[in-house]
Amino acid sequence: MHVLSFLTRLVIPHHCVLCKTTLRLKEQSICQICVCSQARCTKFDVLPHQRIFDTVGASFQSVLINTESTSHLCKNLKYGFNYRLGISLGKSLLGPYLQSFCERVNKNPVLIPVPVSRKRKKMRGYNQSEKLSQGCLQFILAQGFHATIVNLLKKVLHKRSQVEYGTFTRWTNPTGSMEVRKKIKQRIPENALLVLIDDTVTTGSTLIHASEIIREHFPNHSILILALALEV
Ligand SMILES: [Zn+2]
Repeated sequence: MHVLSFLTRLVIPHHCVLCKTTLRLKEQSICQICVCSQARCTKFDVLPHQRIFDTVGASFQSVLINTESTSHLCKNLKYGFNYRLGISLGKSLLGPYLQSFCERVNKNPVLIPVPVSRKRKKMRGYNQSEKLSQGCLQFILAQGFHATIVNLLKKVLHKRSQVEYGTFTRWTNPTGSMEVRKKIKQRIPENALLVLIDDTVTTGSTLIHASEIIREHFPNHSILILALALEV
């Protein structure tokens, strides 16, 4: 295993994306010190969003608050062709939060990444929410939960990047842009906790739209919206 890790170091960058220090063998893309030192969201940061998600009966949590270094991380994850960073952040930041939530509600999670359009996925090389989900899944399986990732949602319309819109259009823009894959829907267990995973939350409109669709199809399931970072 160590020999393999050593060999992969020859082709994979082995410095932390934030502090540039040399990574240890078990670290990928980001060092543990930088992971631990990122500013966490407080209850007060999350509250305005939670009130919106109350309308669909979903819980909301973002792990990090948007600071300069978090923003650097998120950009690197989205546009830096660095999928390992997604797995690493999913494992070390989303994983522990999900574990405590699952213990609290006593349910096994089904992870649902927020989809990106095929065009965007091709451009970025991967869907960053899917990579976060994979890391989170690794962590949660290691804690003894039964868990899985399900690509329940798919994009049905191409929409321009959120950045190109003003605030009002951002709110109205995503309508009709996602739907549930019917065949995959049948595979979701009755008692599962549905966890919608995304990287950053700006207005939250995409997540609200996605959670409304999920709620429509799963009226009785517990739903958790879990994001890596909140932009305020
Ligand atoms: Zn570092």
